[in-house]
Amino acid sequence: MKNNSVTCLLCPRHCTVPEGGRGDCGVRQNRDGKYYTLVWGNPCALGTDPIEKKPLYHVIPGGKAFSIATAGCNMRCKFCQNWNISQAKPEETRNFDLPPGQVVKYAAKYNCEAIAFTYNEPTVFYEYMYDTAKLAKAKKLKPVVVSNGFMNGDPMTELCKVVSAVKIDLKAFTEEFYKKMTGGSLQPVLDTLTLLKKLGMWFEIVNLIIPTANDEPAEIKAMCRWIKKELGPDVPLHFSAFHPMYKLRNVPRTPNKTMFAAYDIARAEGLHYVYVGNVRPVGHRAEKTYCPKCGKVVIDRRGYLVTQINVKDGKCAFCGQPIKGVWK
Ligand code: SF4
Repeated sequence: MKNNSVTCLLCPRHCTVPEGGRGDCGVRQNRDGKYYTLVWGNPCALGTDPIEKKPLYHVIPGGKAFSIATAGCNMRCKFCQNWNISQAKPEETRNFDLPPGQVVKYAAKYNCEAIAFTYNEPTVFYEYMYDTAKLAKAKKLKPVVVSNGFMNGDPMTELCKVVSAVKIDLKAFTEEFYKKMTGGSLQPVLDTLTLLKKLGMWFEIVNLIIPTANDEPAEIKAMCRWIKKELGPDVPLHFSAFHPMYKLRNVPRTPNKTMFAAYDIARAEGLHYVYVGNVRPVGHRAEKTYCPKCGKVVIDRRGYLVTQINVKDGKCAFCGQPIKGVWK
């Protein structure tokens, strides 16, 4: 652009960055008119997690995901659980030197079937994610993306060619919430969801319910209606309970009553796979996957533990109804 500035087309922020400057995510820098990522091969968090923790309930149940994150984010959520890395610059975190080949090796070493790009927003480390996913797929691992969905359509379309599943946070169903609580906006996230549907990508949605902020039954109902109409009834919807965090420590935990009321709304609206997470005690009715035809439990869980799988070749073992997901 003019005067050696660059405009980043990766996410809807479309930052125009002067020479020497960085984009809003803090991890992409303009050096002499060229735009560089500052986090390729330099994760600041590594871990192995049950894939249920992402949460992805219809992707290799009981599988393990080698998880990586870098510094940076393109949103500013007041309730962020990982704010210490997501709101940091790469020079403020302790980083590892881990190029894609090493990530894949670690995944094999720790018996992981999947590699997850998670904890912070992977959009901001897109190039590192893309290169790792491509290599992982060639090695028959499943790359999965855990995202806020605030990414432009073209990069998302390219990314979908090399990943196996995506989890999107639909943080609320109003622009007002997005503006006030996240610094982002709703419409681009909805656009991402409809794009994923169009591309035939497997994806699941998480909605974090925060008392007084996005817990109105009418809003939850409108969101479920939109999901069913635009994405279909087979997209899993996970309601997750809020607990006080970061800049939202004055708001109490989400009561179980609110969580199960949301579950009942979603089921009544015709969504087939609805879940409630982050509530105690575990082992409740909203952790299980029910066959939409015969109603039997096809996957049983207790927290992150999968205790029973009755899905055979992508179908209910009792009645043969297809159960959507990535099972192999
Ligand atoms: S990815 Fe970062 S630099 Fe690019 S538009 Fe988004 S916030 Fe700006």
